[in-house]
Amino acid sequence: MPRRKPRPKHAPAAPAPAVRPEDPCPCGLPAPYAQCCGRFHTGGETAPTAERLMRSRYSAFVARDEPYLLRTWSPATRPRTVDFDPDTRWTGLEILDTIDGTLFHTTGTVAFTARYTHRGEPGALRERSRFEKADGHWLYVDGTFD
Ligand SMILES: [Zn+2]
Repeated sequence: MPRRKPRPKHAPAAPAPAVRPEDPCPCGLPAPYAQCCGRFHTGGETAPTAERLMRSRYSAFVARDEPYLLRTWSPATRPRTVDFDPDTRWTGLEILDTIDGTLFHTTGTVAFTARYTHRGEPGALRERSRFEKADGHWLYVDGTFD
């Protein structure tokens, strides 16, 4: 009987889907991840508008970047941790509408549809998210589901 291959010693239980720097950015803009949301995730730059923050937070869900999600969350509504459902894979983002949230505003609203599969079943989340700017940084406040 052939011997079974030994298991790798440090295999993670639920590996996060890695987003490589050269991959298309998960947020849907036509730029590689490193030049799009990746530069916000690494802390090199901050998202200039509410929409870019929204996109970068979506990409952070794809990349399972919990520190980025927490530091771009308003302290008033921020959870202690972010739960990533290992059975959910985010498959696309569509921005539907943006109100304010530019360089010249301190609040903004972004409506979007985020598509996913959950255990292979496709689904979509529609949310209208509110953002505010504090110390020059856009933060996610909360959202309502359409
Ligand atoms: Zn992006």
